[in-house]
Amino acid sequence: MIIKPFKEPIFVTRPLLPDLKKVTKRLEKVWSSQWLTNNGPQHIILENKIKQFLKVENVSLFNNGTIALIVACQALKLKGEVITTPFTFAATTHVLKWNNITPVFCDIEKDTFNIDADKIEKLITPKTSAILAVHVFGNPCNVEKIQRIAKKYNIKVIYDAAHAFGTEIDGKGIGTFGDVTMFSFHATKLFHTAEGGALVMNDKALKQDIDYLKNFGIKTEEEIIKAGINGKMNELQASVGIEVLELVKREWKKREIIRREYIKNLSKIEGIGILDYPKNIHSSYQYFPIVIDEKKFGRSRNFIHSELKKYNVISRKYFYPLCSNFECYREFKSSNKKNLPIANEIANNIITLPFYGALNLSDVKTICYIIKTLKK
Ligand SMILES: *Cc1c(COP(=O)(O)O)cnc(C)c1O
Repeated sequence: MIIKPFKEPIFVTRPLLPDLKKVTKRLEKVWSSQWLTNNGPQHIILENKIKQFLKVENVSLFNNGTIALIVACQALKLKGEVITTPFTFAATTHVLKWNNITPVFCDIEKDTFNIDADKIEKLITPKTSAILAVHVFGNPCNVEKIQRIAKKYNIKVIYDAAHAFGTEIDGKGIGTFGDVTMFSFHATKLFHTAEGGALVMNDKALKQDIDYLKNFGIKTEEEIIKAGINGKMNELQASVGIEVLELVKREWKKREIIRREYIKNLSKIEGIGILDYPKNIHSSYQYFPIVIDEKKFGRSRNFIHSELKKYNVISRKYFYPLCSNFECYREFKSSNKKNLPIANEIANNIITLPFYGALNLSDVKTICYIIKTLKK
């Protein structure tokens, strides 16, 4: 069988787009109210809907996930060192840097790609103020073990759940773990507001602090009580979000079918590893990564990435390079590759395949077939 390249590029993801008429209807309300930002009616609606959807106590919406995470560090008054993962998007580490905090990189688990909780304790020093962990690809970290360590050393826990919108452990919302959890609503994320994000927390007083911090620290017209920033989500973003949220559950069902099709076609190929979820986890279906065992498959990840491109299939090397190998962080003691063997191995061998509800099953089959033909 000869495979022709796809006519149009198949991207790694596509944004969920609601019926434009529905969005317009909501925007008409915004227009006639002339209320464009600052905790307007659409913002209030979305905040409540997300609270229910994520099964959490408190939500504070933001203009993007990165600013949300910066504010989380401020609200928890973090300083000194924070133990984190190098296997993440650049924003996670940059946020620490923007708070004058030294990131201390910890190695990851081979099966989940999440921070290895068993390796955290030996990185703790008197300067450690928190653990900043990422639920990579929507797969939850070992939240219990991380909580135990945090309690023992009296340090905070922040989760970057940018990939984990709707992830649940035994029916519990992923945002109920740790002191604060950040979600990103960037267009590439399953639920989005074009740009946007949120912090969620169990502590109501902390939400109040965070709400002040994201609005310049303004309490009343004449009282500025904190050195805040502008992290507010506007009414246009919120309007988009309300309509996108309606589509999430259907999108999950579609992605579940696509995931099954990938697994059916790829799982028997020697040298391809697939991210699995334990039975008690509801996944956010954010990405579909595979790990190439070069010895068994006979080809490298980079070879597969560039060959797929020839067929107009745009896969991504998430997360390569590791944050610990960025020029701005590679001199740190904890960035030493000897301390991060698994993270370096996964980063060099992982590839994320196209994964979104509108992807045809026949195209999924073709992508798998192409990968099969690449095997040596
Ligand atoms: C997308 C993403 C962010 C950043 O979120 P923005 O909303 O784009 O600022 C942070 N961390 C991870 C892991 C992400 O994937």
